[in-house]
Amino acid sequence: MINESVREEFQKIVGDDGLYDHEEALVSYSYDAFTFEGMPEVVLFPKTTKEVSAIMKVASRENIPVTARGAGTNLTGGSVPARGGIVLVLTKMNKIIEIDKENRTATMEPGVINMDFQKELTKYNLFFPPDPASMAIATMGGNVAENAGGPRAVKYGVMKDYLLGLEVVLASGDVMMTGRKTMKNVTGYNLTQLFCGSEGTLGIITKIIVKLIPPPETRRTLQVAFKDLDDAGRISTMIFDGGILPVALELLDNIFVNIIEDYAHVGLPKEAEALVLIEVDGPEVAVEAQVEKIHQMCEELDALDIKVARTAEENDEIWKARRSAYGAEAQLRPTAIAEDCTVPVAQLVPMFREVAKIAKKYDLLIPIVAHAGDGNLHPQILTDIRDKEEMKRVEKAIDEISAKSVELGGTLTGEHGIGIAKVGVLPMEIGEVGIAVTKAIKNALDPQNILNPDKIVQMN
Ligand SMILES: Cc1cc2nc3c(=O)[nH]c(=O)nc-3n(C[C@H](O)[C@H](O)[C@H](O)COP(=O)(O)OP(=O)(O)OC[C@H]3O[C@@H](n4cnc5c(N)ncnc54)[C@H](O)[C@@H]3O)c2cc1C
Repeated sequence: MINESVREEFQKIVGDDGLYDHEEALVSYSYDAFTFEGMPEVVLFPKTTKEVSAIMKVASRENIPVTARGAGTNLTGGSVPARGGIVLVLTKMNKIIEIDKENRTATMEPGVINMDFQKELTKYNLFFPPDPASMAIATMGGNVAENAGGPRAVKYGVMKDYLLGLEVVLASGDVMMTGRKTMKNVTGYNLTQLFCGSEGTLGIITKIIVKLIPPPETRRTLQVAFKDLDDAGRISTMIFDGGILPVALELLDNIFVNIIEDYAHVGLPKEAEALVLIEVDGPEVAVEAQVEKIHQMCEELDALDIKVARTAEENDEIWKARRSAYGAEAQLRPTAIAEDCTVPVAQLVPMFREVAKIAKKYDLLIPIVAHAGDGNLHPQILTDIRDKEEMKRVEKAIDEISAKSVELGGTLTGEHGIGIAKVGVLPMEIGEVGIAVTKAIKNALDPQNILNPDKIVQMN
């Protein structure tokens, strides 16, 4: 419980405009994009690292749980205050501190919105590739804490691949800097990467240093419809075997093709078992040759339909199909649960078939969209959270999808994290020893278990 004198301490730290505890505010910060599991007692908006440190000193003295929050777009319960206490919103720490063109790095506060950062970089002719679909609203702090990635991950990797250093406020309130503005650094343990993907359970990220690269000269997208799902697997192999590293390689199944076509009327062939989007980038001449080569490969596989974007507008038009997937599915059922398993790339098509079997077994509608180039599937479980009987089947289906992914050599989550949603199945992948090591790390950095408790691993 936060008593009146502790509340006053917080008020002094963050000022009059930095503390909210009226009911509407508490409700607004009690959820994420997936679930509602707990109400905070107070919502704090610090503006500096010094304020975050002062808050953590009081929180650890008083044993108050602290849940960091960026934009609250995570899909696994990460920013939900499972044990009440403080929701620490980092959105007022939203300055890009420096874009260092010479060293090809940028330093920023955690509340910077990914897309704002990307737009700013265009002025410097520099590029930061990680592009989660939520980039228009998600914060860079949230992206680091979840190790977010997007379609461009196939060629360019995810958040961790661009991270050079972090400033972190520990549970005690002590402030630590990891890494530097250097492209290489093997000094001691890789603490920067320890905090990347730690979902607010090990420290509060207050500053981020990332590396930047030159932007590609041009990019081009192909949209290809195949009659047979196996051809989607084949084209992927053929592209890589042909010496092409695509930027993105996305796959939507027949259910999604139909959902999108009924909603957006973009001319997709409804009989297609698979719709594949392939993007390549680089110098104009090289891109033209790659597009030509991929086109030929698709013809060899008797693709039902091949569309090639010739202009930036046509490129965007093609991606419209992929982007409208989530809006389209919302027309069918009130709740969509985005699963996030990732399998070795060769197991992608078998995993599609396994999910279809699980959907049939539990009588559920589960269309799949996948970042096929990196084996990351998002089976979208379309349901109604108010239907208790159906939700029991949904839970069983999710557990079976997780188990099947691990059985095929895959992982429980490729980008959405463990949060609350997958705490129960974590041992399935990392085993008893893995759980013990995870707990030891958590204990070392947060012995009172005040940082985002009940997420990733259950401590007490
Ligand atoms: C429509 C939609 C599409 C999405 N697409 C993608 C996608 O393509 N790829 C992908 O990877 N994810 C995706 N996501 C998930 C989500 O957007 C990402 O996880 C994103 O990185 C979360 O950022 P956020 O600012 O919203 O963080 P929040 O949701 O507020 O927080 C996420 C986690 O990070 C912690 N956290 C936040 N800020 C800090 C900080 N400064 N210090 C320490 N911990 C912190 C929180 O405690 C929480 O555990 C999608 C979500 C939605 C709703």
